[in-house]
Amino acid sequence: MEKHELIEKLRSNMSRDTWNNWLTTAQILELDNKKVVVGLGNLFIKEAVEKRFGSIIKETINNILGKPVEVVFKEIPISKEQKNAVNGPIIKNRPLKLSEFNPEFTFDSFVTGNSNRIAYYSALEVCKNPGKYNPLFIYGDVGLGKTHLLHAIGNFLMENAPDLKVKYVTAEDFMNQMMDGIRASDMENFRERFRRNVDFLLIDDVQFLIGKNTVQSELFHTFNSLFNSRKQIVICSDRTPDELATFHPRLISRFEMGLITDIQAPDKATKYLIAKKMAQMISLQLTDDVAYYLAEHVDTNLRKLRGAIMNLLLQSQISGAPANIESAKTIVNSMMRMNANKVRFQSPEVLETVKIDTVIDLVAAEFDINRKDIFSSSRKKEIALARQVLAYLFKTTMKLKTKDISEKLDKNHSTIIHSIKKIEHSLLMGNEMIKNKINNIKNKLEDEKGILTL
Ligand code: ADP
Ligand code: MG
Repeated sequence: MEKHELIEKLRSNMSRDTWNNWLTTAQILELDNKKVVVGLGNLFIKEAVEKRFGSIIKETINNILGKPVEVVFKEIPISKEQKNAVNGPIIKNRPLKLSEFNPEFTFDSFVTGNSNRIAYYSALEVCKNPGKYNPLFIYGDVGLGKTHLLHAIGNFLMENAPDLKVKYVTAEDFMNQMMDGIRASDMENFRERFRRNVDFLLIDDVQFLIGKNTVQSELFHTFNSLFNSRKQIVICSDRTPDELATFHPRLISRFEMGLITDIQAPDKATKYLIAKKMAQMISLQLTDDVAYYLAEHVDTNLRKLRGAIMNLLLQSQISGAPANIESAKTIVNSMMRMNANKVRFQSPEVLETVKIDTVIDLVAAEFDINRKDIFSSSRKKEIALARQVLAYLFKTTMKLKTKDISEKLDKNHSTIIHSIKKIEHSLLMGNEMIKNKINNIKNKLEDEKGILTL
């Protein structure tokens, strides 16, 4: 039998998915009476294939040849030119994939310390042994490197296993794409995208789905489908599975099936090293004392550390002098002032205003009218009804006082009382149209609440 015949037979004996995902680089390098050498893309693929499919491939080759032979796997050494040739079409075929991962977020640029070592190694481990820990769930506060690790996985796999289809998506994006699918009545396409054309699914910021039951349910099915076909899933969240208490229990229990690791706030020494690494990444000279100052004074959210370092870069480019402790101090102080403002913005009063605004928008959207119509004096039926529903929601859902409602809607007290009564009456009488609209608005409000209270 010729080498190419053997490879064709092997291919037709394996499942198409397995072949397309893992074996497109397979070649028969040697074939004689006693021994078959199977060449595979690169070291990473060779190891993964040997581990996962080694015995199946051996058995299949023995069956095809009708006699027992020794089967050996080898990585195919490729020359630089070949590598470029291989990279060429991949770049062309997968433009999205290239831009999907931030090239700066790699395992190499990730500094490890006690706070994040386990998360780092588990991320690396899922790359080397996909499916071993499935799913991998990483949680940790904002700015501690979760997204960095997801991108590091993506970058690592693109480099070492370019045939794997790796998909990174934020939960928010997942939801938007799902909504688009629903709107276009093309869920098939959406599901194809997430269930079939994926070997590695990286889901970021899953806490975004708090309160969004339909999206959670879609994620659950996506999850099952990938899991059943042994595709690796990695999930990040700034809440622990426990804290995602309002998530559907079956989704939580899926999260808990795999490996859960956390990232803690870095200690000062790690922060110092991270500051150094960040500076190195952007070719900024950062002396030890400045790095130490930043480690001590910028809080543990590493985005702020990065912000401070970008600022230092700018200043040193303007002044032409290396970053010094004086400019570091100025930057840290102005960051603190910004924080103070942010706290004010998140005060309960401000949040309340944001919520009220959201309800108004949702009601206007549900009745398909403009927001300003609600505050107009128009007596058109749709508009009047929208106003009544709004008053009703203000009272029942937002628990506003009648006096406040009448102020907000610029209508007198008795009009408001009448409006609320009217809606209550309609609901009692089983008016389906009003009931549905109110339910729709409440559901959407639940969704928004998740965002507002984050
Ligand atoms: P999260 O997704 O957890 O909110 P990010 O991954 O966005 O946090 O990290 C915030 C910033 O800090 C990014 O610029 C990231 O590169 C950097 N960063 C976080 N952890 C590390 C680390 N261990 N080593 C180097 N940079 C880090
Ligand atoms: Mg993130």
